[in-house]
Amino acid sequence: LTEDEDDVYFGSYAHFSIHQEMLKDKVRTESYRDFMYHNPTLFKDKVVLDVGCGTGILSMFAARAGARKVIGVDQSEIVYQAMDIVRENGLDDVVTLLKGRIEDVELPVDKVDIIISEWMGYFLLFESMLDSVLYARDKYLQPNGVVHPDSCTIVLAALDDPDLQASHVTYWDDVYGFKMTCMKSEVIKEASVEIVKAEKIISDQVVVKTLDSCTCSVTDLQFSQDFTLTATSEGQINAIVGYFDIFFHKGCSKQVMFSTGPGATPTHWKQTVFLLQQPIKVTKGQTIKGHLVCKKNRRDPRSLAITMTVDGVTQNFMMQ
Ligand code: SAH
Repeated sequence: LTEDEDDVYFGSYAHFSIHQEMLKDKVRTESYRDFMYHNPTLFKDKVVLDVGCGTGILSMFAARAGARKVIGVDQSEIVYQAMDIVRENGLDDVVTLLKGRIEDVELPVDKVDIIISEWMGYFLLFESMLDSVLYARDKYLQPNGVVHPDSCTIVLAALDDPDLQASHVTYWDDVYGFKMTCMKSEVIKEASVEIVKAEKIISDQVVVKTLDSCTCSVTDLQFSQDFTLTATSEGQINAIVGYFDIFFHKGCSKQVMFSTGPGATPTHWKQTVFLLQQPIKVTKGQTIKGHLVCKKNRRDPRSLAITMTVDGVTQNFMMQ
């Protein structure tokens, strides 16, 4: 990435509202907290690296969980607030914060025992921050160290929601009395982020990708995968829904996970909806074959270019 492109990215994390939104996402924040507070033996006397510390919340959880030393790194200006926050809570003897890109900063230690990070974007990989976590892992994690969360899955399911189709596509047939039908083919290329009702899912939910943060490489983050969805009821598939699940399992006596799927308590990631050009009628038990290609957008490597083939029809989606 050029520095200018990254300036825009880190600039977005300088705004307080984005951190407030993340902190207020209890599913997200309490999962990290519970994982650390309920596994104190993992943290006792350990050296922890928090990649992208933001307000410092994960660093402070780790300190409270018993870490000997916590190093938090963030390139965004928010890190200056985090420094005040850590001091205000009397944790500055344990937590050290550094301003800079994890790829550029010089850490005060050679190796760390644990890496924690909240790097997930829409559809898991949007934002490409996992690349930076893997960089930190390969450079700083001692051989038997662990990256938490240690595992994540990307899941797809079929959605029967004619209203969604109407609000995104049919809408353009009559906009204040004008036709804007050329917008239809454009709009459908953009994956949308919204909360989907669980009752509108009419297939099984299939895992199309599992990533192990301790072993995966940057090349694993661009992938293609065949999948088969089985209809759980009769209906019409208007869209494919994508979401992710996150696991804190490795070495934990108390395992923690959370899902961003429909049916789970909504998170700020919501779900990602890929509208189909042509709805597909299905009967209960019918299988639909598909293929997913997930790549970084060449022009903007922090965004994703997704190609989905469903029942023989291929569509390209951008996520911006
Ligand atoms: N850990 C905080 C913030 C998570 S948001 C929390 O859980 O609330 C991700 C943060 O990572 C942002 O503040 C962003 O500026 C930072 N970040 C992303 N890539 C980074 C990199 N390569 N180096 C340093 N910080 C990075």
